[in-house]
Amino acid sequence: MGDRDYQSIIQNAIGSIGKELEIEINSKDIQTIHLKEVVQCLRRSYYDRIEPNEIERRGFNELLSGLLRKLQYGSEAKEFALDDIKLKGQVDMMLDDSILLFRSAPEGLENPHASDILYLNACMWIYDKKDGIIIYIAGDKKETTFSLTRNKKMFEEIIRRVRVLNDLLKEQKVPILEPSTECSDCQYFERCFMKRKNAKEMSLAEMLGMGKKD
Ligand code: SF4
Repeated sequence: MGDRDYQSIIQNAIGSIGKELEIEINSKDIQTIHLKEVVQCLRRSYYDRIEPNEIERRGFNELLSGLLRKLQYGSEAKEFALDDIKLKGQVDMMLDDSILLFRSAPEGLENPHASDILYLNACMWIYDKKDGIIIYIAGDKKETTFSLTRNKKMFEEIIRRVRVLNDLLKEQKVPILEPSTECSDCQYFERCFMKRKNAKEMSLAEMLGMGKKD
């Protein structure tokens, strides 16, 4: 088999395909906010536009949703107008007037992820559909399905978050931390949570007279 590092070759392949399949966001166009940006932590979405770090992808099953979107199974991106802001969403598949989302998941998932519920619910308003389904596919190929009927209050919360992100981008203010389980996989974890440690190290360096260059 030689000395080749197959793990990093696979990782690079996943990374390249993942980039191709990502929802394209024009970071300069702050009047168009993507649904993906407001169902996740707003600070993460802000950094993705202003000062991005690459995300590390873990496996091919994470690419499923992007592949389906690319194949456009009746799921062209759609916009929802909010005065001068556009909220843009895209479903993975549309079937029999129902919206379908596909996500990878750990085995034995008992409840859908909050961000997926928010995404699906908002899509039902954007596409004006009453029913939606999230299909989670685990590593052992087992599927877990959750269905949802649309909820106005939940969509109003998304609209509020769209306006908040738009305002903060306009003012170039970093959104507050939104600590959650998302943080452990987030590419900005160090930026959010390690500053204090760096600050301490800096002040120690300064105390030793090594911190400032004139
Ligand atoms: S580490 Fe957490 S709070 Fe910070 S950007 Fe990522 S998800 Fe948001």
